[in-house]
Amino acid sequence: MTAVPYDEALAEFEPVIGLETHVELGTASKMFCGCATEFGAEPNTQVCPVCLGLPGALPVVNETAIESTIRIGLALHCDIATWCRFARKNYFYPDMPKNFQTSQYDEPLCTDGYLDVLVAGETVRIPIERVHLEEDTGKSLHVGGATGRIHGASHSLVDYNRAGIPLVEIVTKPVTGTGTMPAEVAKAYVTELRDVLRGLGVSDVKMEQGSLRCDVNVSLNRPGQEWGTRSETKNVNSLRSVERAVRSEVERQAFRLRAGERIVQETRHFHEDTGMSTSGRSKEEATDYRYFPEPDLVPIAPDPVWVATLKDALPEAPSVRRLMLTKELGLSDNDSEAMVNAGVLDVVLATVEAGTSATEARNWWLGHLAQSANTAGVDAADLPITPAQVARVVALVNAGTLTAGLARQVVDGVLAGEGEPDAVVVSRGLAVVSDEGALAAAVDEAIAADPDAAEKVRSGKVAAAGALVGKVMKATRGQADASVARRLVLERLGVTADLS
Ligand code: ADP
Ligand code: MG
Ligand code: ZN
Repeated sequence: MTAVPYDEALAEFEPVIGLETHVELGTASKMFCGCATEFGAEPNTQVCPVCLGLPGALPVVNETAIESTIRIGLALHCDIATWCRFARKNYFYPDMPKNFQTSQYDEPLCTDGYLDVLVAGETVRIPIERVHLEEDTGKSLHVGGATGRIHGASHSLVDYNRAGIPLVEIVTKPVTGTGTMPAEVAKAYVTELRDVLRGLGVSDVKMEQGSLRCDVNVSLNRPGQEWGTRSETKNVNSLRSVERAVRSEVERQAFRLRAGERIVQETRHFHEDTGMSTSGRSKEEATDYRYFPEPDLVPIAPDPVWVATLKDALPEAPSVRRLMLTKELGLSDNDSEAMVNAGVLDVVLATVEAGTSATEARNWWLGHLAQSANTAGVDAADLPITPAQVARVVALVNAGTLTAGLARQVVDGVLAGEGEPDAVVVSRGLAVVSDEGALAAAVDEAIAADPDAAEKVRSGKVAAAGALVGKVMKATRGQADASVARRLVLERLGVTADLS
């Protein structure tokens, strides 16, 4: 055992966390050239002399990327620079063709903001240090080993399609005062940030495809003492992992500190499979990136009038929409927090707009659809079903055409690409059967199959009819109108009195 349990660790130490989030912008072209940015293209087909760093190639700034970055800064309540420059960050890495990354250093576009998040019913304000614009690197692929890591590989391949895609980095100030919940706060922050970014429409924010990635910094100190040394867990690629990365670092560092050891400033790598991280590069000696202002690009000087226009046109913040749900639609704080955490706030609202009650929308998106998403390994909001289709299924239930069970089958059909809900009802033959003639055979079979239950009902034990109705439901794959089936069972067995 080399860890102190989370709760125990936090009873003894105070946590400080810091989050660096990288967002790939959804611009049609790259940051400094006209190359396409689509995910999943054949390797090295979306490249040109500029993003390959060939001699003499000159970059040109993508205006939409600047606009998106400013909008992100505004949504996070930042100050927007009136004049700033790009900087070269010099280092050598095979996936970076220019041997420097065009980034921003001491002159970021946006500084000094915050994001409020809801954790266990409390609002926590996360201070934002800066939001800056840079370019993404390419991707290395290590071939021939068992793990896909460079260790044990026979050779490596590089794909430069991603090199030069605009990347926004959002860095928090050190977050203190999270008490017993640093992991929960970290997860809530990234979740809320993802919703803000999605609402702005600046990125598809798909953590599993790497368009949203997080580095998680954690340190511990004894109460009243200075902050401890931080570790930085790199490239954490799901919301669940953000929480787990903080948790495992708290547990590991507490163990070290208790043993009287010191924490080494280092980067760590998070492993999705085990939920643990392993030591990476030591940061004891700060890397010298030899930053200097990018000589090939003119400074950026956003016109304050333009910035004001962008600010006025910002969409409603997710927190405002959430408030609307809780206040106007009467859902509980717990419900709205659960919806935020599941990333379904927008689809729930859209489902309500398409005609369902808030409770019905909530039940679907936090119930069957959440389960389907979990099984499919995607976010519920990304399932191939629209809020309008969910609303149509709800309407069919309310009209008595579908039972709850049949409705789930219809939804499964829509998810499987079988078409609109009404089409699935027809093609899968899922409508409720209340026609007595159609149910008579199933009722007779149920009675014949379970003479004991039938006898009990005949002798007055009406409750035993439940088993027979169950058989009818099963034989009709859930399609029988249960109340009609029950009436028929009782009639057949000579019980006509009280049918309730
Ligand atoms: P680097 O490039 O070395 O990762 P950054 O300034 O980009 O440095 O990011 C450092 C992150 O770590 C920031 O989010 C910052 O708030 C956070 N941080 C700084 N000091 C601490 C600390 N003692 N404990 C936890 N987080 C910290
Ligand atoms: Mg960092
Ligand atoms: Zn290019």
